Amino acid sequence: MSQFIPYGRQDISQADIDAVLDILRSDWLTQGPAIERFEAAVAAYCGVRYAVAVSSATAALHIACLALDLKEGDRLWTSPNTFVASANCGRYCGATVDFVDIDPQTYNLNPSALEQKLAVAAQQSCLPNVVVPVHFAGQSCEMNKIAELSAFYRFRVIEDASHAIGGRYQGRPIGCCSFSDMAVFSFHPVKIITTGEGGMVLTNREDFYERLIRLRSHGITRNPDLIQGESDGSWYYQQLELGFNYRMTDIQAALGTSQMQRLDEFVAQRRFLAQRYDCLLHDLPITLPWQHPDAKSSWHLYVIRLNLDKIRKTHRQVFELLRQTGIGVNLHYIPVHTQPYYQSLGFQWGDFPNTENYYQEAISIPIYFGLKEIDQDRIATVLHEIFS
Ligand SMILES: *Cc1c(COP(=O)(O)O)cnc(C)c1O
Repeated sequence: MSQFIPYGRQDISQADIDAVLDILRSDWLTQGPAIERFEAAVAAYCGVRYAVAVSSATAALHIACLALDLKEGDRLWTSPNTFVASANCGRYCGATVDFVDIDPQTYNLNPSALEQKLAVAAQQSCLPNVVVPVHFAGQSCEMNKIAELSAFYRFRVIEDASHAIGGRYQGRPIGCCSFSDMAVFSFHPVKIITTGEGGMVLTNREDFYERLIRLRSHGITRNPDLIQGESDGSWYYQQLELGFNYRMTDIQAALGTSQMQRLDEFVAQRRFLAQRYDCLLHDLPITLPWQHPDAKSSWHLYVIRLNLDKIRKTHRQVFELLRQTGIGVNLHYIPVHTQPYYQSLGFQWGDFPNTENYYQEAISIPIYFGLKEIDQDRIATVLHEIFS
């Protein structure tokens, strides 16, 4: 019996392990200097001014929304083809969540659909306050168009770049925030680099940065410029607003800094594997990932789409056959608006047809730094057998 191949997994080197051990032997397990080192490494890589490390991308999305003053009665729009966290952050703030259907080629939020929905919303005075484009599979959304719409209709933009660290758009690193107010990364083990659990918010705006830092740690400040009235002494701090404990530990941050050293290597290998799949699978009745000329994906996912009218098996049968042969396929994503929670808010099947059609046909096949070429060959062979 051959080994189970997951759809994604981390790669931990001896240098990563040593970096973590160094922290365990140091004075600071949390709130120490490793956090700023990690933040500086990611900010420098992305060419952005500020970076705030937090406990997860979910926490990052939450405080990013709060830093933009998203509140009850406001509106947040995102893609239905994403993990639930991209939408939930709006709900945490009491905002109403709505979705914009995907482009059938990139599987990203479709900027033309966004434009149409904005025009209708403008007439009805219900424009969104925040739009969260998700760089699905690591391929950037068409940020130039989204930024233009954001300037015209005056909404804020938070990029959910959970899949996309190491990717590029129009020659710039994803996370540079040239087309957005903030960008968010995830460092969950299936993502491009990992800290176990972890996330980060990036921004070029100092005022957003100050707010993010405060929200990460209970809404507390020690900054004399921000303290109201007189300080009582050197122990003094003030809670200025309601924040959280969303801090990352130094143990996680040290792992993150060490992983950053190999980010380009990780992405180059993923790109190599993606191109290899393109060759191995080109003759099958499936649609392979399409790349927008402006985007250079980080290849978090490699999604194949079954051309069901040319196949004698169902989507579910193909998926189960792959799982039975030890190939850990997955499905990204169940359309968020069809989740019972979102259905209870009024959404239903049929609301976003491109996303739903995609969901009926999509399968994420394994792609990660340590995926062996012989395992990739086996996946291709099994797919050929299934479709023969
Ligand atoms: C993984 C993921 C998240 C959540 O990341 P966590 O770090 O697990 O909180 C959010 N959005 C997208 C698109 C993701 O893939």
